Amino acid sequence: MNALPDHVRKIVAEIETEIGEEPETVIEGATGRHTGGNGRVEAAVREILREIGEDPDRPGLTGTPGRVHRMYTELTAGYHVDPVRLLNGAIFEVDYSEMVVVKDIPFYSLCEHHMLPFFGSAAVAYIPRGRVVGLSKIPRIVETFARRLQVQERLTQQIAAFLQDNLDPLGVGVVIEATHLCAVMRGVRKPGTVMTTSAVLGLFRSRDKTRAEFLAHLERRPPSA
Ligand SMILES: [Zn+2]
Repeated sequence: MNALPDHVRKIVAEIETEIGEEPETVIEGATGRHTGGNGRVEAAVREILREIGEDPDRPGLTGTPGRVHRMYTELTAGYHVDPVRLLNGAIFEVDYSEMVVVKDIPFYSLCEHHMLPFFGSAAVAYIPRGRVVGLSKIPRIVETFARRLQVQERLTQQIAAFLQDNLDPLGVGVVIEATHLCAVMRGVRKPGTVMTTSAVLGLFRSRDKTRAEFLAHLERRPPSA
């Protein structure tokens, strides 16, 4: 097992650590997916270039295999983030049991079927059972699960399940809207088509009123809009 390259280690630390917090030192091998600088990704990208009829040795492409390798390790840095550590110190006991909604969280992910981007925005809501999580952690949780090979449905469920498991709220709702380049670029869907997925747990699942309140929050635009 190789240590994480510095640029990936930096991204992992940025997601796990708040500004002003000391970064944890041990990061590499958190989930054991990383393969390091052995040149195999570069060799594979050269093969792809040859197969599509390109010359991997022409001047414009000589640096491409290395850049592609670097890019994929960055875009999948979420495998190395420990989301539980991300929450450390950011769960607070409060006497508050109204719905908390964080919306318009931008994210970028890669579809696992084509390794092409899908991207859009996430809305996350929960009803506390005496515990809330620091507001800035929610986008980081989204990013942790987005920076992996994903399908949108699973991304949605993983965010909801993680909050349910670690915050033990009365319920969680997650809605994700995204555009998939694999669909848009290949003309399967019309350009601009957005796919919406949702995951609802606890009261968000069992109580119509809660779900309706969540959806009403999503329809409300900010005052400036
Ligand atoms: Zn795809």
